[in-house]
Amino acid sequence: MESPTAIPEAVTDLRDLIVQPPRLRTNFDSVLFTRAHPIDDAALSDPILGALCGMLRRHLVQDTNAVGLAAPQLGYPLRVIAVRPNARAGVTVVVNPRVIATTADVATEWEQCLSCPGARVQVERARHIQVEAAESTREGYTATRVVTEYSGFLARVIQHEVDHLDGVTLLVRAGAEGVKAAQRTITWAAEQTEGARVFLEQMEQRA
Ligand SMILES: [Zn+2]
Repeated sequence: MESPTAIPEAVTDLRDLIVQPPRLRTNFDSVLFTRAHPIDDAALSDPILGALCGMLRRHLVQDTNAVGLAAPQLGYPLRVIAVRPNARAGVTVVVNPRVIATTADVATEWEQCLSCPGARVQVERARHIQVEAAESTREGYTATRVVTEYSGFLARVIQHEVDHLDGVTLLVRAGAEGVKAAQRTITWAAEQTEGARVFLEQMEQRA
């Protein structure tokens, strides 16, 4: 697996990465600790990307209380997120999001995550952000970059989901509390050991 600090190359062939059915990844699944790949301009019009966006949208709507989901949470290390401002609102799918500006104005609020069941963590986030992403059109996404401003709760949701794209889960944001949660929930199943190792490395770097 790739270390979270490695600079990922843009993915040109989505078939390589979307080879298994989506499954909600939780706790120490290594994909949650991987830095996700941007989607190359040439792949933005690929119908497979459309399918992935539809998949994220459906999974988010299925979970009546959820407001955000990132592609790595379904097992795909790609920079695509689905968000909505509340559990009844329509879903927006954002491809290749990049937070390009944040205000110094911050707020600390409780957050939860589908991938960290049972964890409830206070996280400081900027109240206002500017996000650059691939332009969304009726036909799909294009190489044109658009900048959108977000405030309040939706700005928080987007920052949480972009954390997922950078391999940072709520347990990492939780600091010492995250380690305690880890000790309670960790299962050293073979496929999860790599994620657990990266998690503990991230915690050491932050200590
Ligand atoms: Zn999450």
